[in-house]
Amino acid sequence: MATVNAGFSGSLFVVAAPSGAGKSTLVNALLAREPGIKLSISTTTRAPRPGEQDGREYHFTTVEDFTARTAAGEYLEWAEVHGNYYGTSRLVVEQQMKLGTDILLEIDWQGAHQVRRQFPDMAGIFIVPPSIAALEERLYKRGQDEPHVITKRLLAAGGEIAHAREFDYVIINEEFDVALDEMRAIVTATRCRFAQQAARNAPLFAQLGIHAQQS
Ligand code: 5GP
Repeated sequence: MATVNAGFSGSLFVVAAPSGAGKSTLVNALLAREPGIKLSISTTTRAPRPGEQDGREYHFTTVEDFTARTAAGEYLEWAEVHGNYYGTSRLVVEQQMKLGTDILLEIDWQGAHQVRRQFPDMAGIFIVPPSIAALEERLYKRGQDEPHVITKRLLAAGGEIAHAREFDYVIINEEFDVALDEMRAIVTATRCRFAQQAARNAPLFAQLGIHAQQS
């Protein structure tokens, strides 16, 4: 039977990938074509990379501030990734989903686990590179991190990939356009799921005599 994320008419998309799989580029292209989806801006204790702006890529903060917010229950999920903390604001996600806005979280597998427990209907999407060689090449080409950081990320990639099976969908990012089309197909299919349609179209469902709960 279809379940409903009670009180939330927006869909929740959770996208994870090992570093270098091309996740952010794909997600940004998806958001440009699907204006109905809003990206949740995470909070992190990592230092901004060149070109990153506070409040655009992340809300950058201190370990002290992050820890205090964690204790106050402000994060829907949080995790330590590559030695830094990352978290998703519960308030922002829940407010938007109540309003019917679709939300996309770009987080790691640990965070995806925590979100799944609270939103069983989330659409979990895992992006993989077409090969390990492609992953290495993308990490080096990006040129934003020190070599020792790249090595750490490559090692972590294996750990992240080990959790691919916990996601509903897998995108192999070989041809960008194909991968993007597949992401859009997932978005469309998720929006057409019974629970989402029932939550968004309550008057129509009532008129047609379609009941969200089995009698
Ligand atoms: P980066 O530092 O390269 O932007 O991100 C490193 C990793 O942290 C990525 O795998 C990214 O998905 C993950 N990440 C970013 N924001 C969050 C978050 O809010 N929660 C969790 N659990 N992981 C996050």
